[in-house]
Amino acid sequence: MDISNEFYREVILDHYKAPRNQGKLVNADVVVSGANPLCGDELELSLSFKEGSLSQVRFHGKGCSISQASASMMTEAIDKKDLENIKEMITQFQEMMLGSRSSDSLRPELEEIKSLEGVKKYPVRIKCALLAWNTLIDALKKFKS
Ligand code: ZN
Repeated sequence: MDISNEFYREVILDHYKAPRNQGKLVNADVVVSGANPLCGDELELSLSFKEGSLSQVRFHGKGCSISQASASMMTEAIDKKDLENIKEMITQFQEMMLGSRSSDSLRPELEEIKSLEGVKKYPVRIKCALLAWNTLIDALKKFKS
């Protein structure tokens, strides 16, 4: 294992052990839950919006380190961003995990999320990394309707 892999592993573990934005919003505009039954990952996202931007985000759940760390990193990346920017981040992350986008071309907010690129080597775990993001897509759909 090279140094960067070791570094990325530390980033993932840090978010897993000390999740950012953990909890539930009392006055959320949208609450959506998601699950990845293959691994037993569960997640609930609550979001509040103000003037077209995300004003607050919280998540709670249980599951493997990749699913929970991905959620924690995602909430930090999208906090206070407008819908257009959030959608672009979702697309970039999906393209990195499912396509050929290089992690070098990600937006600066996704710096820590580069640590999940190594998960691509393990197809079963890609769903773990995507869970929070797929749940976010559901939340945005629900918010708009
Ligand atoms: Zn998992």
